[in-house]
Amino acid sequence: MRPELAAKYDLRVPRYTSYPTAPHFHPGVGAETYGRWLGELDPATELSLYLHIAYCAEMCWFCGCHTKITKRYTPVAAYLEALFGEIALVADALPGRMPARHIHFGGGSPTILSAEDFVRIIATLRERFLVKPDAEIAVELDPRTADEAYVAAMARAGVTRASIGVQDFDPKVQQAINRIQPYEVTERVIGWLRQYGVPEINMDLVYGLPHQTVTGLLSTIDRAVGFRPRRIALFGYAHVPWMKKHQRLIPEETLPDTETRWRQYEEGCRRLAEEHGYVQIGLDHFAAPDDEMAVALKARNLHRNFQGYTTDTASVLIGFGASGIGSLPQGYVANVGEIHFYQQAIAEGRLATQRGIAINDDDRLRRAIIERLMCDLAVDLDAVAARFGQDGGQFAEELASLAPMQADGLVNVEGRRITVTEDGRTLVRAACAAFDRYLRRGEQRHSKAV
Ligand code: SF4
Repeated sequence: MRPELAAKYDLRVPRYTSYPTAPHFHPGVGAETYGRWLGELDPATELSLYLHIAYCAEMCWFCGCHTKITKRYTPVAAYLEALFGEIALVADALPGRMPARHIHFGGGSPTILSAEDFVRIIATLRERFLVKPDAEIAVELDPRTADEAYVAAMARAGVTRASIGVQDFDPKVQQAINRIQPYEVTERVIGWLRQYGVPEINMDLVYGLPHQTVTGLLSTIDRAVGFRPRRIALFGYAHVPWMKKHQRLIPEETLPDTETRWRQYEEGCRRLAEEHGYVQIGLDHFAAPDDEMAVALKARNLHRNFQGYTTDTASVLIGFGASGIGSLPQGYVANVGEIHFYQQAIAEGRLATQRGIAINDDDRLRRAIIERLMCDLAVDLDAVAARFGQDGGQFAEELASLAPMQADGLVNVEGRRITVTEDGRTLVRAACAAFDRYLRRGEQRHSKAV
């Protein structure tokens, strides 16, 4: 990527984990609509379940997640009771005990739960849903709060994948983001995961952090690869202090400039793909060549949901917890983010839906186009449109709007087939934006494309 293009396309565009994207959800879709949508599902449909644990023991200053800090367990226990209440409300609204193929615990920090409570949630899910014997059960794991008893309980409860938050091993960077996590702490938790038999390990790294250098990031990558994770995510730090007030604790002048950020990303990708043999997936994921995700990429069967790239093929995602987001055939729903209001709604026997959006056929078609672009870096508009009984000819305007990107060598447009070039990979979101009917440039402020 030439640096002048990095500057030219420094657009603030959505991450396209959904389409329409979350800023377009509105209060017109609430608990009543969600309850009705759940009841209308075909009982044979496979579900994916996401549980948001909205607490952490300490605030990492780079954090972009929806979380609250607590040093005590009482608020966590109260939150958990609401979570059980919500599981019961949703399960009661469904047309039967439906199959679940994928369970994901995110946060916040799922590891803030006691081992007993974690086991209790899984047992409840198994009771209320038909959790498939080969279901993936994934947990985001903070090595600073996961102790041996928790890891042992995870393994006993059937967890198949742990995603370990690392960010960067450099103590100076860790200090600047208020996340002190010595290498040995990560090493210890990985030892337990292997000892107790959690088979799949992912690692999350971040570039664009304060005081981070290209060399430092590459050293973190080498050390992470030393643990032989099946997948590595290399996310870009999104500095949005106008939305996340704690990020003001990171002085702007300690952040790498745009050009360094691009070099971190590009050299990081090169190190992972060319030197360590990982397959790059979309913008920011890397998988071992025989990993399910790399296999799905090859088969053009990779998907994208609120957790990013996924092999999950379930057509319904149910989000539990404060700020939990769900995706149903009828549209999207989002729970209220404030824990207090979330708990209040559930205590009153109401679903905690605050916003959402019903989708139409045009949304579904555009979503499929954007998903293929994000996953495959290529899309055949005629082929995707045909799946919806439509014609790709309707996208002449969108194709024309890609002309500047084509002139800059970032995309190739041949007929109605778009291919994002290797140079354009980092700007794939800008290509997707051409198909985003809801996007009015300048209205929203998203994070940098890279
Ligand atoms: S542990 Fe994760 S969710 Fe919690 S503050 Fe740190 S980055 Fe955010």
